Amino acid sequence: MPQSNSWAARAADLRPDGRAVIDGQRVAAVDGQTFEKRSPIDNRLLGAVARGQAADVDAAVRAARAAFDDRRWAGKAPAVRKKILQRFADKILGAKEELALLETLDMGKPIQYSLSVDVPSTARCIAWYAEAVDKIYDEIAPTPDSALALITREAMGVIGAIVPWNYPMIMAAWKLGPALAAGNSVVLKPSEKSPYTACRLAELAVEAGIPPGVFNVVPGFGHEAGEALALHMDVDAIGFTGSTRVGRRMLDYAGRSNLKRVYNELGGKSAFLVFDDFKDLERAAKTVAGSMFFNQGESCNAPSRVLVHERVAEEFTALVAAEAPSYAPGNPLDTGTVLGALVDETQMRTVLGYIDAGSAEGARCVAGGQQALAQTGGYYVEPTVFAGVSNGMKIAREEIFGPVMSILTFKTEEEAIALANNSSYGLQASVWSDGLNRAHRVARALRAGTVHVNQYDEDDITVPFGGYKQSGNGRDKSLHAFDKYTELKTTWIRLD
Ligand code: NAD
Repeated sequence: MPQSNSWAARAADLRPDGRAVIDGQRVAAVDGQTFEKRSPIDNRLLGAVARGQAADVDAAVRAARAAFDDRRWAGKAPAVRKKILQRFADKILGAKEELALLETLDMGKPIQYSLSVDVPSTARCIAWYAEAVDKIYDEIAPTPDSALALITREAMGVIGAIVPWNYPMIMAAWKLGPALAAGNSVVLKPSEKSPYTACRLAELAVEAGIPPGVFNVVPGFGHEAGEALALHMDVDAIGFTGSTRVGRRMLDYAGRSNLKRVYNELGGKSAFLVFDDFKDLERAAKTVAGSMFFNQGESCNAPSRVLVHERVAEEFTALVAAEAPSYAPGNPLDTGTVLGALVDETQMRTVLGYIDAGSAEGARCVAGGQQALAQTGGYYVEPTVFAGVSNGMKIAREEIFGPVMSILTFKTEEEAIALANNSSYGLQASVWSDGLNRAHRVARALRAGTVHVNQYDEDDITVPFGGYKQSGNGRDKSLHAFDKYTELKTTWIRLD
């Protein structure tokens, strides 16, 4: 397998630090336990990571609470927090290559995307909330002469952030940006499958001038550190991104503890609707392949359910099948690779299990379908396309979280809308039509947090991101995210 020598050499020399960051200090777990972190690229051992437990989470929450209560961060003028957060964003860009390499080694995404997408988007998110925070005003209610009513937003306190491994830094930044800009303290629990960049971010934050205790990171497993954080009585809100299965637990943890706010950003099975009045089928096929196979299909918003009008289904399927091999898996450290390794063996086995289920249920595999590069010791799966899928099949209903696309057909617009909405998820959707009326009509009818028309790639920190139905509640990104990490206060003043 070809490799970019420089990245491979740098990877060989890297000794990542997997200790927690609490109160501005690198620390081992209280009981000294660690777990092994291996790279999915080749199963090489990357190092030992602190295995945080309730005691570690408790120490982090205590540090975060102390920082909040003495107002070392919340008490700073918004313009001052802005400057410090902008420095934090600059530090992230300054450490671009190190962070990108850590991300790629940890979870297997191609180095070119860690460099061009993950690091810059993380920095931009932090900078964007920094820039916003001294431009937001509170409200005064319309009252009689005898009173004044102020409606203000206050930082909430201690925010627990629990994030997945598919975009480790970006998902963390979507919580950190609004939570820190608003003046909160944060305890971040990264996925046990991708802990390294989170720990580095916390160090960079301290270097940038964010006071110790304001941003803490406790690595560990979900059922240990994650559960302890979500159950903690002194955490005011949980910003969770992950599976719908664990999102349900977050609500349960809140109910069993202090009724902390829970904001869930969960799974998806996004529908991509191609109507027969859309002329540029080739562009639609290239777009769906690019969006589906980006990040090895490990994206919550991957357009994994493709609904095509039966008149163009054959042509469209052939175009997508022809496109798939250009996403052949390769070594993520090779700068030309576009599809890397799946995050671990369990994930690879899950994805291969879905591929078997698709064939067993009678879908037709028109591209891929196999494990790849097994000789590397890493976890790779070919970009896979199934045609002849019906909406009752497992591969059409469940989130696979791998490079597997299902193509279904429809006869009428009504049927297309009904199929698209017949899912427990509602994260994103896309409509492809040259008819202005149809595009608007269908976009309006789709039950999804984001609907794309004749494209799938546009995305920006300026717009909300989140789902309907079991894809979650709350929204990451945009100014709306401030709502999640602030409390609304009304202050009535009598005027004599
Ligand atoms: P996951 O739910 O298994 O884990 C997410 C996080 O929760 C991890 O940090 C994990 O350690 C922790 N966790 C697991 N069990 C826990 C428990 N019992 N208590 C507390 N914490 C626990 O999800 P994953 O496999 O890491 O990520 C993939 C999922 O994330 C997919 O479903 C994907 O769609 C979703 N996702 C959603 C969005 C979005 O914005 N909607 C974005 C990215 C990923």
